[in-house]
Amino acid sequence: MKEPFLSAIPLITKIEDEGYEAYFVGGSVRDLLLGRDIADVDIATSATPQEIQAIFPKTIDVGVEHGTIVVLFSGKTYEVTTFRTEAEYKDCRRPSGVQFIRSLEEDLKRRDFTMNAIAMDKTGQFIDPFHGKQAIENRVIQTVGKAKERFSEDALRMMRAVRFFSQLNFKIETKTREALIQNAYLLKHISTERKLIEFEKLLAGKNHRNALGVLHETELYMYLPGMALYSEGLIRMIKYDTTGLSIEEMWAFLIYQLKINENEMSTFLKTWKLPVKKIKKIVQIVKWLKVRLKMDWTDESLYEAGLNTIFSTERAYNLLHNQEIDSRINHLLEQYEDLPIKQRSELKVTGNDLQEWFQKKPGPWIKEILDRIENAVIHRKVSNDNHSLREWLIKCNQN
Ligand code: ATP
Ligand code: MG
Repeated sequence: MKEPFLSAIPLITKIEDEGYEAYFVGGSVRDLLLGRDIADVDIATSATPQEIQAIFPKTIDVGVEHGTIVVLFSGKTYEVTTFRTEAEYKDCRRPSGVQFIRSLEEDLKRRDFTMNAIAMDKTGQFIDPFHGKQAIENRVIQTVGKAKERFSEDALRMMRAVRFFSQLNFKIETKTREALIQNAYLLKHISTERKLIEFEKLLAGKNHRNALGVLHETELYMYLPGMALYSEGLIRMIKYDTTGLSIEEMWAFLIYQLKINENEMSTFLKTWKLPVKKIKKIVQIVKWLKVRLKMDWTDESLYEAGLNTIFSTERAYNLLHNQEIDSRINHLLEQYEDLPIKQRSELKVTGNDLQEWFQKKPGPWIKEILDRIENAVIHRKVSNDNHSLREWLIKCNQN
């Protein structure tokens, strides 16, 4: 066995010594079998949350009602979740309450896909009642049990199917795919927050073009925030391989392809419940992309956009023109570095200077003059030192 599993073995042993069962489960076991990088391991146990809290001195209660306790162990944190069933589902959503059980197999049975329903004990033996290993070998995404039922229990699983399709480039098993079409409309019951997580993972997956195609074919996209009107835009988006773009750049590219109006962009992103800061970044990129499509960068536009937006805009621009994503980035960096100033605070003049030079009380005139100075400095009409700026102002005033 290898890390990060290795470090967790003593934790499992400790739970076993107390008379309970504990296994590695879920994404980490799947990714181990796939040879993918593993961020952290999830552990499932027959011990209840209270029993886990009694065994380990340091725990954090992150969701006792769902059976999850974070255990601090040998300087690391582990999510330890009690075996559970989700007997009752309401409105196609995760149930609010869960029932703790002592059977591993029952716990595996409630999991979404066979590849995600494999447990591994501390010796590296697999417990795989639903043939998840086989599914991984055959590279298929298949629900545990009947797809139609599993998707109507929790409609988010449909989005998860398509995002795993994007990340892993597996096939979607026929019945599972049919159920996506039949049950797509149930996605309307799912919260935006949960959809967003899956959608961003989908966008970032290496098979994202085909995954967006599946969202379109199955009409799942119609039940994603603000997307119902954009059938054609989604088709346009599918033409582009956005690999290498940041998540903000991907959103900006999507908005551009959907042809969302300037004044509706924020609203669209708000319906996705994206954080305000992220929305601002995305809107800036789209705005500058539209400018960039009309003309090349100038000192003024480089200065106004700022380095991060310049890079993001240029990457989106390159992608639109089938050019290497980062081509010309170094050239733009040089051009940017060469600007006389990068922001207004770098001007070698202050409001106090102006009051003194003009012998006038403070007022809106200060901002007006600073605007003019800023503009002149960027256009290299005057160099940015206090003495030159003063001379320049005096000269301007005489004309
Ligand atoms: P990732 O590597 O992206 O985290 P993951 O498979 O670990 O993928 P998680 O959301 O972390 O996904 O969930 C952990 C495990 O919990 C899954 O592997 C699966 O067994 C189970 N699971 C998660 N969400 C659902 C769901 N909606 N329905 C059923 N089982 C689920
Ligand atoms: Mg996970």
